[in-house]
Amino acid sequence: MATKHQVVIVGGGPVGVGLAVELGLRGIDAVLVERRLTPQPIPKGQNLAPRTLEHFWSWGIVDELRAKRIMPPGMPINGIVAYKDLTSDYWYAPPQREIVQQWYYQKVERLPQYYTEEVLRARMAQCPSITARFGWAAEKIEQDETGVRVTIADANGARETIEGEYVVGCDGGRSKTRAELGIGGGGDDYDQMMVLAVFRSTELHQRLERFPLRSTYNALHPDHKGYWQFFGRVEVGKSWFFHAPVPPGTTADNTDFSAVLHHAAGFPFAIEFDHVGLWDLRVTVADTYRVGRGFIAGDAAHSHPPYGGYGVNTGLEDARNLGWKLAAKFQGWGGETLLESYSAERRPIFEETGRDFIAGRIEEDRDWLARHSPDRDKADFDRAWNERKALMDTRIQSYEPHYEGSPVVAGPPGGRTSAHGKHAFAARAGHHLTPRKLSSGKDVFETLGRDFTLIALGNGLDDDIAMSVRQIESATKTARVPLKTVRDKYEGEAAQLGAKLILVRPDHYVAWCGDNSPADALALLKRAIGTQSIC
Ligand SMILES: Cc1cc2nc3c(=O)[nH]c(=O)nc-3n(C[C@H](O)[C@H](O)[C@H](O)COP(=O)(O)OP(=O)(O)OC[C@H]3O[C@@H](n4cnc5c(N)ncnc54)[C@H](O)[C@@H]3O)c2cc1C
Repeated sequence: MATKHQVVIVGGGPVGVGLAVELGLRGIDAVLVERRLTPQPIPKGQNLAPRTLEHFWSWGIVDELRAKRIMPPGMPINGIVAYKDLTSDYWYAPPQREIVQQWYYQKVERLPQYYTEEVLRARMAQCPSITARFGWAAEKIEQDETGVRVTIADANGARETIEGEYVVGCDGGRSKTRAELGIGGGGDDYDQMMVLAVFRSTELHQRLERFPLRSTYNALHPDHKGYWQFFGRVEVGKSWFFHAPVPPGTTADNTDFSAVLHHAAGFPFAIEFDHVGLWDLRVTVADTYRVGRGFIAGDAAHSHPPYGGYGVNTGLEDARNLGWKLAAKFQGWGGETLLESYSAERRPIFEETGRDFIAGRIEEDRDWLARHSPDRDKADFDRAWNERKALMDTRIQSYEPHYEGSPVVAGPPGGRTSAHGKHAFAARAGHHLTPRKLSSGKDVFETLGRDFTLIALGNGLDDDIAMSVRQIESATKTARVPLKTVRDKYEGEAAQLGAKLILVRPDHYVAWCGDNSPADALALLKRAIGTQSIC
């Protein structure tokens, strides 16, 4: 007999388990099916953005995550970029996501993904409404108007069927769920094979002491046409991962991988390999993140090389976005448009991230390396190299994903959902709320509820604001939307939020803001919860 749950999650990597935690904390009955018993021992997904740390904070596990860090305290998480190889005189240490730190409530972190997954799995185990089926793989996924049926099998050939109201495929780049749902995709297939090596070498650590201490080292060689030769630290002084392009036809048997690493570094050094794997570089995005009762999230929805650290960070944002929307639907206040908005919000973000911040960067570097060479024209190269350094700040600053064009956000007229934006403290509909201190000394983030929050800022007993709050509260009661109201003064840091009334979604994005009550508070609410698309 089939077991029944509200949601079936296929794949228990960081995104699947993150989604299970988000649903579990909202009391949703979900089952997670993961074919592996333990996380893959590859030190990938290390660069965790401040926004990702906000998710861990919301899930009550930010301290547990930070305690798993293996880098020494104070170790910079950014890296070195060098021309040609790591012996070059041309190098710089570009800024990383710490330059956008002030707009997030949590700081960046760096640790191997298997530790992140351990922390997530431990949190999931504390959620009574979540069932984990490790060691089981999804084989077949069917859906009709009434629900989904997922056939799972274990290594011994035992089979079971799980029924659910929705299925979410978080099953990685080769997603079975995506294929079973019939979702196609587009993007760039570069026909470029890459190597991923995990190794130990104290000698490499010693040779890199010529640079200020950093976590990663990227050698941009003109022969590699913009593809990175990338060394990343795992345990400082001891272990590393490395990825780089390799020629077509490369196999484990016909290639001296030590020579590949030595070429990238520009010098020989002792290496003990723990893992060597080959993969194809692709930047792709699914045509849609939803078909009927089936959704996809994380690498199942978008695949890309680990350039810029967008994978696990983007995937966990998918999970956070979808989790509260599914819960709202089950709790009876979220509408169909809210579920539709998951793909409408998340897909364009990755489409632009892949195109402009990943593929675009490979192409820019390819072009740049072809145009400038210190051997051909040193003066031109020196000037261009200095310009490159200055550009890095702008790139990081301009990555500010927002949902201005979302059907469930009261964005500006003509607003478009985009990965490009500008960080600002001022609240804007469709944008991430920024942390600011309230008069109580608490940060606004510490006052947010798990569902919608109305932040009402007024000096003294501001009659207009009090009346607007009553109108919005009354609308939420009518629409049965759980709401927490936070009242504070419109002064100090709080005034930098730039609006006296801010309606914040469960995922910390602003649904609406203004200085007066909206013309029709109920219509606004209905739009934010996807039961009415136009207000
Ligand atoms: C070298 C390297 C460095 C990286 N660095 C970064 C970084 O710094 N920052 C960043 O954000 N990202 C980084 N990434 C990318 C990041 O690791 C991925 O984006 C991330 O793992 C995606 O998580 P996921 O849960 O979507 O998919 P996965 O981690 O691939 O998990 C999918 C899970 O689904 C399971 N599964 C598959 N099929 C089935 C099935 N049929 N039934 C049941 N289970 C199934 C798999 O066993 C797996 O556990 C890096 C990747 C690499 C390779």
